[in-house]
Amino acid sequence: MNQFIGSRALPDLVYHRPGTMDDLLGLVKGIEGEYRVVAGCTDFIPAIRGGKWRFADGINVVDIRGVKALSGIREEKGEIVMGAATRLSDILVSPVIREKAPVLADAVSQMASPQVRNTATVGGNLCMASPAADTAPPLLVLDAKVAWRTADGEETTPLNKFFLGPGATVLPPRSVLTEIRFPAPGPDEAARRTRMGQRTAFVCSIISVAVWLRGGPEKIEAARIAMGAVAPTPILITAAESVLIGKKPNEATLAEAAKTAASNIAPIDDLRATADYRKSLAETLTRRLLAACVGDLA
Ligand SMILES: Cc1cc2nc3c(=O)[nH]c(=O)nc-3n(C[C@H](O)[C@H](O)[C@H](O)COP(=O)(O)OP(=O)(O)OC[C@H]3O[C@@H](n4cnc5c(N)ncnc54)[C@H](O)[C@@H]3O)c2cc1C
Repeated sequence: MNQFIGSRALPDLVYHRPGTMDDLLGLVKGIEGEYRVVAGCTDFIPAIRGGKWRFADGINVVDIRGVKALSGIREEKGEIVMGAATRLSDILVSPVIREKAPVLADAVSQMASPQVRNTATVGGNLCMASPAADTAPPLLVLDAKVAWRTADGEETTPLNKFFLGPGATVLPPRSVLTEIRFPAPGPDEAARRTRMGQRTAFVCSIISVAVWLRGGPEKIEAARIAMGAVAPTPILITAAESVLIGKKPNEATLAEAAKTAASNIAPIDDLRATADYRKSLAETLTRRLLAACVGDLA
């Protein structure tokens, strides 16, 4: 049969599974030829099977899941810290996340399926840099920073500056994303998120929205609004935040902020939805989420 139908075969992989951070960084620094750092492989394998990525036989695959320091969730000096190789299923059941950042657990609960969440990692979701990456909007509104290491040092950047475009990040060559951290939210803060897809589960988002407010029923002191699948990268929409800060969170203010958010996105028409539909959803969902957060602060 000349025509190939179905999923593509994997190339011959040279598999590495270092057990310590030093071994991992040394291996990545010295490796010769093509290589990929992988975690759960829930993007990596489908990208090869679907023909999106093609590698020659002999590609080095560096599995980071043997490095214990890259997994787990802890609270440390007023921050929540997650290892990049923390599985989505561990986020879902983490008492720290459920208590301090339920907005993230909520997002993860709608991702993929239990089987996929049992191997997919938060770092993999961010490094894949899909415009629709579902962990990104909640992490953006939680003011997350990401850290990576190479054999020569460590760097940190706000998540807002991490994504460069679809599939592209600021991660330098031969680096490994190591952790994601954000300030532990206080009692005068509230965050909510939602997403729309063609079905409720197992689909790429048409749009996802997350909002975060600090303040009370009389005045919003700080605000953040983030969206996925409405631009080449997940984005923080700062123009809408200034509409809210210092204002009483009444219906008119929330509506204006939602309108501003929707007019500051650049969605595209694609198989899943039109740009106009995404804009309309952006406004409606933002307004509803803001109202829900105001209710949480009351
Ligand atoms: C059936 C199915 C349903 C899905 N549903 C959703 C969904 O609802 N929402 C959603 O957002 N995604 C979804 N995904 C995509 C995928 O599961 C997630 O993006 C997942 O979090 C990727 O994590 P991973 O550990 O499997 O990444 P991998 O596949 O291991 O890696 C993905 C990319 O990130 C790089 N990488 C991974 N970890 C690191 C690191 N620590 N440092 C540097 N580079 C790294 C790899 O080189 C690769 O380029 C779905 C996938 C499948 C197969």
